[in-house]
This record gives sequence, structure tokens and C-alpha cells, in this order.
Amino acid sequence: MTGCDRFDREHLWHPYTSTSDPLPVYKADRAEGCEIILEDGTRLVDGMSSWWCAIHGYNHPVLNAAAEAQLGKMSHVMFGGLTHEPAVELGKLLLKTAPPSMDKIFYADSGSVAVEVAMKMAVQYNFAAGKPQKTNFVTIRRGYHGDTWNAMSVCDPVTGMHSLFGSALPVRHFVPAPESRFDGEWIENDILPLQETIEKHHGELAALILEPVVQGAGGMRFYHPEYLRKAAALCREYDMLLVFDEIATGFGRTGKFFAWEHAGVEPDIMCIGKALTGGYMTFSAVLASSKVADTISAHEPHSFMHGPTFMGNPLACAVARASTELLLASDWQGRVRAIEAQLKEELAPAAGLPSVNDVRVLGAIGVIEVKRPVDMAFMQKRFVEEGVWVRPFGKLVYVMPPYIISPEQLSKLTSALVKIAGELC
Ligand code: PMP
Repeated sequence: MTGCDRFDREHLWHPYTSTSDPLPVYKADRAEGCEIILEDGTRLVDGMSSWWCAIHGYNHPVLNAAAEAQLGKMSHVMFGGLTHEPAVELGKLLLKTAPPSMDKIFYADSGSVAVEVAMKMAVQYNFAAGKPQKTNFVTIRRGYHGDTWNAMSVCDPVTGMHSLFGSALPVRHFVPAPESRFDGEWIENDILPLQETIEKHHGELAALILEPVVQGAGGMRFYHPEYLRKAAALCREYDMLLVFDEIATGFGRTGKFFAWEHAGVEPDIMCIGKALTGGYMTFSAVLASSKVADTISAHEPHSFMHGPTFMGNPLACAVARASTELLLASDWQGRVRAIEAQLKEELAPAAGLPSVNDVRVLGAIGVIEVKRPVDMAFMQKRFVEEGVWVRPFGKLVYVMPPYIISPEQLSKLTSALVKIAGELC
């Protein structure tokens, strides 16, 4: 072990692992295109897009140039009392691609903070609208919205962190996640639990928050868009806001630019992040309708009460603009469709394995759900031996590759997935 590795092991906290007996880590030296290159020269085909962000791959000349150009002007200035071209130009692009009802943009720091901001916005909206008792939220089980306090409170209570933080967390209303599969029949009864909860508790409910169509880190599930249409109608009927968390689904990942398009249902508030900067740095945004923003602004204190230090960071805005322009100028639909077709074909053999429960694909997301929770350290090692970077969790072995992945690289990923799933008992 080198001195650097020892320092990491002894002093650096990695996500979701122990400090006294941490899971092994691999030392990345650099990354380019669709590959992560380890210090010992091992080249790994990336199946994760670094937690679903690096849609254009790594070390992209266009994004590098945008960052460098912006660095030469200003990396950061405060957003209070100042504005700048990167924020304005990115805003124009986001409004062009967002649901038509979105009109106002709040730039934030990360996905979790965007969810905090969205939830605060929903509560402040209701307060301003003369309904101060509407402060709570309803959501569907199996969701994931981030690791900060309020975001955690609406994550799945079983797979999330409720058992650890339980009594310290605000208590939300949870209904079962829809069972109707994205590509299956709509089951009418799926909406009943949400309907019953809303009918009973709407007086205290500010909003329904959910990930449209794809539930990511809470279970990698793809549900029927009809659920969103029915849910939206209930929100309208019972005077509740609809909040979409598009942090994982945004920027083409599901085959649509944003996942709301699968249902044609527009939210009142929408969170975006992850691929917003093409995976270059942390950044997010909360989009809101004029109704939400104007109502908040019409009431004391006539402003939304949130203002992070790095709000509207020019460097992040410049890279986000370049990334979004690059995406829009590319044939991203064609790329995602081709990845989807290849994933469907090449992951299909896994469905026959005794260790496998389900195989599902939507857009550039391929999931093998196995029957027993996997040994992460063992699986990670096996994937590295196969020359790919895949990080499973729980019973989910999945890939969300950069859109620039070549068919050969994708085949390397899928064959490693099928091979290693076959080694599980
Ligand atoms: N919402 C969703 C749907 C997510 O997938 C994530 C991250 N996996 C978050 C929120 C939180 O984002 P961040 O990790 O940037 O705080």
C-alpha cells in the first residue's frame, strides 16, 4: 500500500462505508471518453457515468474549453446583487427544454439541496397562498431524493435511512410505489392508495413529490406514466403542488429529454442536477411555475427564503450551458435509442439465470435485479477484473453509461454483467 493509499484508508471518509474497515477503493488516475484509467494503467469501460452524470464521457474538449474560458474571466461571484452571462444563457436553454409551465429558475448546489429548496418552496407557496397548515408531503415508496434532512424524509422508509434517523426526521405520508410497469398494462388500482391518502390528508399536504417514471437509487424501477396523469389530477383537485425530481432522469437518460414527457404531465416545481454539468461539478436547479414564484413573491417577506453562497456559480453555469448545448446539438435520441436496443438484446440472456429476478431496460438504463443482496467488494473486484466500472447496490446490478459509449464498449459492459450475474448463486 502506498503512503497515499494509506492516508485515504486512514483519513478519508468514502460514501456509505466504514472508516475502521472501509470497502476497498481503486485509485483513478485520469478519465477520458468512456474510460476510467487507474493508477496502474488498468483501463475500465465506465458503466456508471459517475453516478449518472457524465453523459458526454470524461475530459471532453468542449466542456474543458468552456471551463477554461470561464476560469479566465471569473470562477465565482456572489449571485446576491450581481448577475452574469453564464447564468442568463444557461437559464434561457433550460427554459427552452423544460416543461412549458416552468418559468422561474433557482440555481442550487447539488441534487439534495435542490430537493430541500423545492420542498421549502412548496411550503412557502402554501403559506403565501393563505394555507399555512399545508406543510407536509406525500410521496411513493421506493423513492430516493438525496441525503440531506428533508430529502431523506421523503426517501423510501425501508431502503432509505429512516431506521437510523427515524424519530429525528419529519414524518411524511408514504403510499406504495406503483406496480404497473412502464411497458406493461396500467393497473387501475395502482392509484387508489395515493387517492385515499390525499382525500384524507390534503388539508395538511403542501405537495406530492416523486421521481417521474424512473425510481433510481430507491430501486431502479420503471413505472407506468398513467400513474403521473392520475396523480397530477389528484393534486389539482385537492389544491396540492406537484414536484418532480428529475435529478436522475433529466437530460435524455430515459429516452425523453425530461421524463415528464412520457406522461405529458407538467409539474409545478421540478428539480434537475447530475447531468446538468455533464458530470463536471456539483450544480443543480429548481424550476418553478410563475404561479408558485408569483404567489411567494406577493406575500411577506416578498422573497423566497434561500440563498446559498455558491448560488449561480459562473463556472458551473458555463459548463452546464456547454454541456446542454452539446447534448442538444447531438443526435442524443438516436444514441439513447441505440443503447436501449443493445442493452435489451444483450442483457436478455441474464433473465434465464437462476440468480436473477428481473431484467429491465429503459433508455440508457439497464438493470439486472438479482435475488439476493450482492457482496459489493467482491462484485466490484470481479468487474474490475473484467475491465469495466460497475458499482451495484443491494440486489441491483445496473449500468447507466455515457451516451458516447461505443457498441463494442457497451458489449464489454453487458457481457461482464451477464457473466458475473451468472457466477452468483
Ligand atoms: N434525487 C435523485 C432522484 C437522485 O438520484 C439523487 C442522487 N442520486 C439526488 C436527488 C441527490 O443528488 P445529490 O447526490 O447531488 O445530492
